[in-house]
Amino acid sequence: MLCRDQVEAWIRAFAGAIADQKEYLTQLDTAIGDADHGTNLDRGFRKVLERLDDWRQGGIGKLLQEVGMTLIATVGGASGPLYGTFFVRAAAAAGSGESLIDAEAAEMFSQGVDGVAQRGRAELGDKTMVDVLVPARDAWMAATKEGTSLAEAVERAVGVAAEARDATGPMLARRGRASYLGERSRGHIDPGAASAHLMLQSLMLTIE
Ligand code: ADP
Ligand code: MG
Ligand code: MG
Repeated sequence: MLCRDQVEAWIRAFAGAIADQKEYLTQLDTAIGDADHGTNLDRGFRKVLERLDDWRQGGIGKLLQEVGMTLIATVGGASGPLYGTFFVRAAAAAGSGESLIDAEAAEMFSQGVDGVAQRGRAELGDKTMVDVLVPARDAWMAATKEGTSLAEAVERAVGVAAEARDATGPMLARRGRASYLGERSRGHIDPGAASAHLMLQSLMLTIE
């Protein structure tokens, strides 16, 4: 079971992780992008934190929808619309209730991931956040089907996400700014892959 307060705590934890890791994310984006991934996300999540208390009514869907719209409006860059789409799509899957059973929580995350992949038109192996989100989602779904607890399923997803983040290092970028570098994009972890891992890790730390 995932309740609304846990979803809010997840958003707060992710915002905190972004603030803590801002320099690291921007450093990754310095190597193969335009050095703004950490500052882009931090700008958006500061706005989210300012407004969170206004979204008390309307259940999980309302909360996630407002998070998504705020990110789309404030983050900019490629990652704003992508994370925005993640939360807007997750909101639609979550609906207006105050809690989700474990299978619904997995589905909520899965719909968000599909939204990112569709919006970015990124395939697995393109060296983007999709390379973390898709295998993590698959691990979460598989664990849920086995009947493990939500906490265990998310913990497995985080383990997969960490490996998937590191596996973006040797990849050749085919989407986003890093793709302009061609072969020189190899040898650096993708910034969005790193922030996607933080999103899952924040959820794990919230529900453990
Ligand atoms: P920008 O590249 O516009 O400066 P950010 O630096 O905030 O935006 O985000 C860059 C990250 O966005 C990349 O590391 C990558 O993970 C992700 N990204 C970029 N383009 C795409 C895409 N088409 N599909 C999925 N993810 C993408
Ligand atoms: Mg950038
Ligand atoms: Mg930019």
